Amino acid sequence: MSVKRTIHRGETSQKLLAGNLPRIRFVRLFSALLAAVCLPAESGENYIPALEKIFSIQERVADIHRALATPYPVAVVADKTFFVYAPVAGEKTFGLAATAPDPYHTQTGMRAAMPLAFWENRAACVVTPEIFAEEDGYVFILHEFVHCYQWENGELALKEKLRLFRQAMEKQDYMWELQHPFPYDNATVARTYRDWCRALELGDAKKAEALRSFLKKGLNSLDWEYMAWEEWKEGLARFLENRARERLRLPLNLPSADASFDRVSFYRGGDLFIAFLLKREPALADDWAKLFGRILYSGG
Ligand SMILES: [Zn+2]
Repeated sequence: MSVKRTIHRGETSQKLLAGNLPRIRFVRLFSALLAAVCLPAESGENYIPALEKIFSIQERVADIHRALATPYPVAVVADKTFFVYAPVAGEKTFGLAATAPDPYHTQTGMRAAMPLAFWENRAACVVTPEIFAEEDGYVFILHEFVHCYQWENGELALKEKLRLFRQAMEKQDYMWELQHPFPYDNATVARTYRDWCRALELGDAKKAEALRSFLKKGLNSLDWEYMAWEEWKEGLARFLENRARERLRLPLNLPSADASFDRVSFYRGGDLFIAFLLKREPALADDWAKLFGRILYSGG
C-alpha cells in the first residue's frame, strides 16, 4: 500500500481519537449500562493468534524505547462490541478480559488509545479487526501503545500545567485536543512551520532555532501551548512509530508533498523536533516530562 494511503488512514483514525478526558467522561455515562449487559466471553472471533504477533514485533523494536516493548490491552471492535484482550503476565499471549457493547458506533479504520471506563479505566489500544491484515497494521498498534504508555506515565500531570487545558476543563470543552482553533489559515504561521520542519530535516539547527523563535512571537500563548502539546503527544507516538518502521523496513509515515497545514502537521513537526532534541540531549528519551518542557519552552 502507498505511504499516502497509510498516512490518510492514520490521520483519519486520529480524528476519531478525542482527548482522553472527553472519553472518560463519555464512557462513564455508559459504564453502568455496559456493566449490566456484558456479553459472554465466547462471543466474536478469536483474535488471539493475530494479537500474539504483537510480541514478536515488539521483540524486534524493544531496544528503541520501553514504550515499544510494553504490551498493552487491545480492544478489538467488531459486531458492535468491544472485545478487550489483555496481555497474560509472564506469557506471550493475550486473554479475553472483558466485552461490552460499543457505545461509539465505531467505524472500520478506528485506531485509538483510551481508558475504558467499563474496565476500571485501564488504557487500551482500540482497533477494528482489518488492521491485522495490513502490512503496517502492527506499527499503528505500536503508535497507540505509545499513547497508552503516555497515559500511564504522567500525561495528565503534564496537561494540568497548561493554561489551555485548565481553561478547556472550566468550559467543559472535552474536545480541545482535536478542536482547538489554532490559526492554521495564517499564511505566515503556516509558512514558518513548514520552513522550520524543513530546517530540522536538513539539520540546520541555527535556522530551526531562529524560525522557532519567530513562530513563538507570532502565536498567542494558548496557541503555542496547543502546538507544543500536540508535538509532544503525537510527535512522540509518530517518532517511535517511524523508528519502528525503520527497524521493520516499512515505509516511514511522512506527510505528502501537498499536505495541508493542520493538526496532523504537528505529528511530523514533533517527530522531527524530538529527534533533534534527543540528538543534543539523549537522556530526554527517558524523561518525557522534561522533553515536554524542552518543547514548551523552546523559541526563547
Ligand atoms: Zn496518535
